[in-house]
Amino acid sequence: MTTEPTYRRGDTGPAVAAIRERLARLGLLDAGAIPAQGETVFDEAVETAVRHFQQTRRTTVDGLVTPGTLRLLEEASWRLGDRDLLATPDAEPPFGDDVAELQRSLLTLGFDCGRVNGTYDRATVAAVREFQRNVGLTPDGVTDLLTVQALNRLNRRMSSGGLLHAMRESEAIQSAGPALPGKTVVLDPGHGGPDTGVTTPGLTESEIVFDIADRVRTRLEKLSVTTHLTRGAGGSPDQRRRAEKANEVGADLLISLHCDAHANPAASGVAAFYYGNDRFGHSSPTGEKFAGLVQREITARTGLANLGTHGMTWDLLRYTQMPAVRIELGYLTSTHDAALLASQRFRESCADAIVIAVQRLYLPPESDAPTGILRLAELRAR
Ligand SMILES: [Zn+2]
Repeated sequence: MTTEPTYRRGDTGPAVAAIRERLARLGLLDAGAIPAQGETVFDEAVETAVRHFQQTRRTTVDGLVTPGTLRLLEEASWRLGDRDLLATPDAEPPFGDDVAELQRSLLTLGFDCGRVNGTYDRATVAAVREFQRNVGLTPDGVTDLLTVQALNRLNRRMSSGGLLHAMRESEAIQSAGPALPGKTVVLDPGHGGPDTGVTTPGLTESEIVFDIADRVRTRLEKLSVTTHLTRGAGGSPDQRRRAEKANEVGADLLISLHCDAHANPAASGVAAFYYGNDRFGHSSPTGEKFAGLVQREITARTGLANLGTHGMTWDLLRYTQMPAVRIELGYLTSTHDAALLASQRFRESCADAIVIAVQRLYLPPESDAPTGILRLAELRAR
């Protein structure tokens, strides 16, 4: 009998590379943060990601990838539509996150499959048959691509409701009202102190983002918004601490500012990240909305390319109780972006764009105007 190995911090090899890849696909490991030794090292970041994963799976949190944890990781990596789901009499029913996703979909649409347990059990098969009958598909109880497509079509139409997180956030926004005065916005300039972030000759990420955060702060305070910074010019609290600070002051919104870097000097543009992970089927809808507004306003006002908005489960986004968005304002390794980041005018435009995006977030939908029309002066008059 062979014993399956357990992987732990310090291990290296292809099995560790596979573990890293699964964790990255689950949004638990920053795929960009590859250690110098390559992608095959079980380092501290991997251990932290494994612990987070174990926490979300309600299993022993020890940072070790035992055969059991490995099985859970494999289970988590199935996505609805990746494979056909069917129950066969002699085999164990299929299980995995794709089954849980299916069960949530069925329940949202009113097909009773019992509880969400990630197992393709009899109640789930019966609910799938019922669903198939309703949409005119052969009621064979097999969740194939056609069935998944029919589910997705219906779910998109119903996408407004359901998730507790989503409801909590939109309720908070409604009770806070559409106006800016009285809001609390926490600005989080990345890095700080000895941690400078990306540096190039003449430009330092921690200084640039502190300067832009300060410009945003000045503008927001003129609009009677209460603002806090997560750090002073010289401090560098960790991500968890920054999130806690925003929680402590009861912030309505957290905006984190960074610049990016890449080995390829052609990489350039702005991207915005909100808390989310398609694979677990949860996200911050307000964060996503704000990320989209920020992208729209910044790219309309500056020469930065639009790299889009993306859901991530980084600590800062995970531990904040309010919508939180991290903006990567261009690449210091790009000649084009670096020239912009060095200029006062660009920094002013970025600050304007962010403030306009904040205001748009709290405007009722009917007041939303195409970008470029709303000016700061108009906002002050509201
Ligand atoms: Zn950074």
